[in-house]
Amino acid sequence: MSLLNDTLALYKALFQAHPLLLPLVSGILGLFIGSFLNVIALRIPKKESFVYPPSHCVHCHHRLGALDLIPVFSYVLLGGKCRYCKAPISRIYPFGEFVTAIFFAITSGVIGLKPELLVGLFLVAILSAITLTDVKYMLIPDKIMIFAVAVGLILRLFIHGLPLWNYGVAALVGGGLLYGIAWASEFFMKKEGMGGGDIKLFAFLGLMLGIKLTLLTIFAASLFGLIGGLILLKSSGQTRDAHIPFGPFIALGAICCYLWGDACIRAYIDLLIAI
Ligand SMILES: [Zn+2]
Repeated sequence: MSLLNDTLALYKALFQAHPLLLPLVSGILGLFIGSFLNVIALRIPKKESFVYPPSHCVHCHHRLGALDLIPVFSYVLLGGKCRYCKAPISRIYPFGEFVTAIFFAITSGVIGLKPELLVGLFLVAILSAITLTDVKYMLIPDKIMIFAVAVGLILRLFIHGLPLWNYGVAALVGGGLLYGIAWASEFFMKKEGMGGGDIKLFAFLGLMLGIKLTLLTIFAASLFGLIGGLILLKSSGQTRDAHIPFGPFIALGAICCYLWGDACIRAYIDLLIAI
């Protein structure tokens, strides 16, 4: 036990002496987690196993070797083309790896080496996965969200900065609010507004963020969605009916609120007091 404590203390001292080391290590970890998430995100909606068959080119079905599977670098080195049949590789693969790595690095830089970092990295991983499925299939898979809620619940039982009830209420409020919106859009507009995945996503965010930051996430996600949607529509010249996935904006809003939400609320209150 004392050996474990000594080792932990040693790592802590090392990461404290070199402030950029933790984000760097987390970023590299993020590259590989991102690569794994690509497989999960692209296979689960198609109901394929994510262990079998092993990674292969979707065009020529050639099995990929270790050199083809280095996150981001393989894509760049191969010029975005399959080594065997020269068919273009979807940009979503390096995108998933890069985004996961960047947010792993930022999250560890903001939180530092403490138990909450585990929660932060799990949050980033799940949000990356649903961003990938939503961009590729316009879908937030139920399977991923059930897993996320279950693991999130266990993590929060052991690691919590707020009282436990706060996360519990946030999960119920977040899920309930989205359920209400889904019900209302179905009832009044006679169309399916939201799937079960979205409802579970907000229950999960409640567990991770607590009441205050979950409510702030709904605001931030709507704002990002509005700005992003306008930019996308303008650049693609499409009509208003074009379908834009909302998942990536919820993901971005949630991670920003998780990392900087408290600071933003404090700055806003200070501003109100000052004027
Ligand atoms: Zn190929």
